[in-house]
Amino acid sequence: MTLKDFLEWIENRSARFRRVVVVVIALGMGLATLMVYQAGGSSVVYTHSMYVPVVIAAIVFGLPGGVIAALLGGLLLGPLMPLDVASGESQSLLNWTFRLAYFLLLAMLIGESADLIRHYIKQMRWRLSHHDVTQLPNRQALGQALQQLLDAPGPGTSPAHLYLIDVSNLNELSLKLGGEFEHMAIRTLADALLGRLAAGMQVFQVRTNRLAILASNEAGPRDEEVPRVIEQAVNTPVVFEGIPLLLHCVWSDIGVEQADRHPDVFLRKLELALNEARTRKLQHYQYSKGLELYSRQNVEILGLLKQALDADVLTLKFQPKYRLRDRRLLAVETLLAWTDPERGIMPPAEFIPLAEESLLITPMTLRIIDRAVAEFSRWLEAGHRLQSIAVNISASNLGNGDFIAGVRETVARYGLQPGQLELELTEGAVVADLDVAVAALNELAAVGVAISVDDFGTGFSSLQYLDRLPVHSVKIDQSFIRNMLQRESNRHIVESTIDLAHRLGLTVVAEGIESEAIEKMLVAMGCDQGQGYFFARPMCGSRLVEFMAARSGTGPANS
Ligand code: C2E
Ligand code: CA
Ligand code: CA
Repeated sequence: MTLKDFLEWIENRSARFRRVVVVVIALGMGLATLMVYQAGGSSVVYTHSMYVPVVIAAIVFGLPGGVIAALLGGLLLGPLMPLDVASGESQSLLNWTFRLAYFLLLAMLIGESADLIRHYIKQMRWRLSHHDVTQLPNRQALGQALQQLLDAPGPGTSPAHLYLIDVSNLNELSLKLGGEFEHMAIRTLADALLGRLAAGMQVFQVRTNRLAILASNEAGPRDEEVPRVIEQAVNTPVVFEGIPLLLHCVWSDIGVEQADRHPDVFLRKLELALNEARTRKLQHYQYSKGLELYSRQNVEILGLLKQALDADVLTLKFQPKYRLRDRRLLAVETLLAWTDPERGIMPPAEFIPLAEESLLITPMTLRIIDRAVAEFSRWLEAGHRLQSIAVNISASNLGNGDFIAGVRETVARYGLQPGQLELELTEGAVVADLDVAVAALNELAAVGVAISVDDFGTGFSSLQYLDRLPVHSVKIDQSFIRNMLQRESNRHIVESTIDLAHRLGLTVVAEGIESEAIEKMLVAMGCDQGQGYFFARPMCGSRLVEFMAARSGTGPANS
């Protein structure tokens, strides 16, 4: 144990320990005085034993404590102590003042050093628990504060609530505005929170772009108060060099439970809730046990999907697309179908978003494209007349170079004509990262792939983006088509979309046609193509072959 460790150990002791040390010092001085007196007076060697309580006082109480002990010790062994007890001869002034000066010198040296080391320890500790630029208490400090709350004996209920705020655009802004913006913005946000929160609620900087608020129940009402404060603070622009900038924040919260103990557990759960907020495009999400279960299930589903993909047990279904003018079967859309032996039918809307978050999505989409194109080529060889086959792709495919290369390879291997392979991409995926979409779709268009914007009308619908993309058709989302008969507003939307798309030279496809009445209405509006349960449900490849053969004019070309 070094002197530093020892001082740190002392520093951590309680007030009771200090009282005990005072008693020990007093006893030590009394004992030394008694020993000297019993041994015959201040000329004996035992006077040196007074150094012990003086040194202890200097170490534990620093310079002032050491000086007081030195003076007391010097006086006890000074004018109050004879040089020789038996003869009663007293000490010379020089004798005892010299000894007292020694005591003082030693006490000052040790006391000052102890104070210095203590100061250094305090500084180190502060640094360990604070961000060095923003000066905000950090993750470690949060851990300590949580531990204290959890250690405090209290009722079984949650002793506090924890909030986590993530500034999503901080990195992007600091790239543009320089590093100091990052610290300044976080500090400003923390100050805005601190200025509005009840006293006793603490704000921590747990990461460069993340703040946490610890609101203990003792610090006052929080159920409505803290969320209101967070909303106000995050929606107040940060002014940097005269420019007001808005931070994009997502936040989550959780009740601090005795059962969880470890601070990291809370932060992990809060992160899970942050993710959920992002996925659902919400500004806030509260953690619940259900979320944990849900995300664990998601991990399991992803594992099963990987196995299914490796075992090649995912099946493809095909749904016909018709030309509305003459009800001619023109093309098919490929839809992924997955039946897990234990879980039963797994809807794509449930597992595709999970695959999109993993590395699985690109190999999976490439395999679907390859298998779909293989079937399509066989149908053409058998003489069925189909213009194209469509496959759904995801936004995450576009940012992946392997994907473009894979598609190019498939197109070349099967010798596809331009337009025979169509890729459907949702409107949301196109606008999510327009620059990436423009680059990738241009590359795909260059190899003769037709691009279709799926679920059209559900995204931002700024429509300007259509100008920048090599898009061939738009598919009006089912939600507009399905209740067109009942809702006039939907009819207007569909009609104006058809009109606008035609002006842009695009083909319009209506999906989700479930009745003849809707089909008629779409024909009247000039919609080009349609797809839906009214015509045909998605079906497996062999069933589609029978289906095509049974339709007059759509059967094998040479039959
Ligand atoms: P989507 O591309 O908009 O596909 C149309 C969905 O609507 C399909 O559901 C289809 O079965 C269903 N549908 C078609 N006609 C009708 C109708 O008349 N009425 C009703 N109520 N529904 C109809 P499914 O197969 O459950 O697919 C859901 C979504 O999952 C698809 O929406 C697509 O976004 C995605 N998806 C499916 N397969 C794939 C795939 O291989 N890759 C990717 N990335 N996404 C896929
Ligand atoms: Ca689609
Ligand atoms: Ca769709």
